[in-house]
Amino acid sequence: MNTGTIIGQSPLLYAMERILDRGMIVHAYLFIGPEGSGKKTMSNLFAQALLCTNKGEGKPCRSCITCRQFDSGNHTDVVRVRILEGKTAILVDQIRDMQSVVNIKPYQAGRRICFIEDAHLMNVQAQNALLKTLEEPPSHTVIILLADNINSLLPTILSRCQHFRIGHLSHEEIAQLLNRHYSMDPEEASVYAVLSQGNPGKALTLANDETLHACREELARGIGLAGSVKIADLYGLFMDNKDRTEVLFELMELWIRDLILLKETGDWNLIINKDKSSLLSKQAARFTSKGLQDMIQKIELARTMLKSNTNYQLTIETMLYQF
Ligand SMILES: [Zn+2]
Repeated sequence: MNTGTIIGQSPLLYAMERILDRGMIVHAYLFIGPEGSGKKTMSNLFAQALLCTNKGEGKPCRSCITCRQFDSGNHTDVVRVRILEGKTAILVDQIRDMQSVVNIKPYQAGRRICFIEDAHLMNVQAQNALLKTLEEPPSHTVIILLADNINSLLPTILSRCQHFRIGHLSHEEIAQLLNRHYSMDPEEASVYAVLSQGNPGKALTLANDETLHACREELARGIGLAGSVKIADLYGLFMDNKDRTEVLFELMELWIRDLILLKETGDWNLIINKDKSSLLSKQAARFTSKGLQDMIQKIELARTMLKSNTNYQLTIETMLYQF
C-alpha cells in the first residue's frame, strides 16, 4: 500500500493492506474516531486504493486517471452523503437519493464507493433505510461510514460493517506532524502533543492558534507571580479568552506539573515545557511543592465551579486570588 505522507496509524494501515492484498473486500466499512482523529484521511486512502486501476503494488498510485479524479473530488463513482447545512441529522431522503445511485452500475470503475460522513448523525429513519442496502448490497458498491462514536448507531448497522478504529498518535508522531506542517521544533511541539491527547486535527488547530501561543507565554510568566498581587494580571487574559478557558487551565496545569517534577526529581526528561527551561528553573526555585500542588487544586476547583455555571469573572478572580 502507498501510504503517502500519513503519520502513525500502523495497525490500521496493516489491516487495510491485508484486505487489499487478499482482495477480501466486504460491502461496508465503518471508520470510528473522534473529530480530528483522521477518519477522513484514512477512509480516503482506503477508498482510493480500492478504486486505483494501476496493476502494480503500492495502491493508491496517485497517478492513474482514477486516482487523479479521486484527488480532485471529481470521480463519478464516488458518492458522498453529508449533513445538510442548517440540519442536525442526516435525513432519510439523503439515504434514498444515495440508494438510487447505488443500484446503477458504476460508470467507469468496476466499483462504486459511497461515503456517509458523520454517520453517527443519521436519524433512525435514515439508518433503517440504509439497513436495506446493507442487507442486500449491490455487488459493485462499497459503503464507507465515518462516525465520531457508535453510541447512536443501530446494532443492526454495526453488525453489518467491518470496523476500523482510528488510533491516537504518539507524542513523537504529533511532533513529527507539527514539524512538517509548521516547522515547529520538537520541544515546543510536545506541549501541543499533550494538549491534543494524540488527536492530529486538534494538535494542528492548537499549534496554528497564534493567540494561544501568546497566552502560553503570558501564563508561563504569570504563574511566576503567584503569591504577589501581580498575579491579578492574568485576570485580563482569561476575560479576553473565555472560549479558550479549558486550554488555558490545561496549559497552567502542565506548567505547574513541570515545576513540581523539576523540584521533586530534577529530571529534564520528564519535563514537557522544555522550550522554556530557563523560566522553569527560575520559578521552581521560588515555590514549594506543596504550594504548587495547592495551585493545581484551585484550578481543578475553578473548572468544577464553571461546569456548574458559577459566575465566570468571580470564579477566575477567586482562583487567582487563592494563588
Ligand atoms: Zn491509481
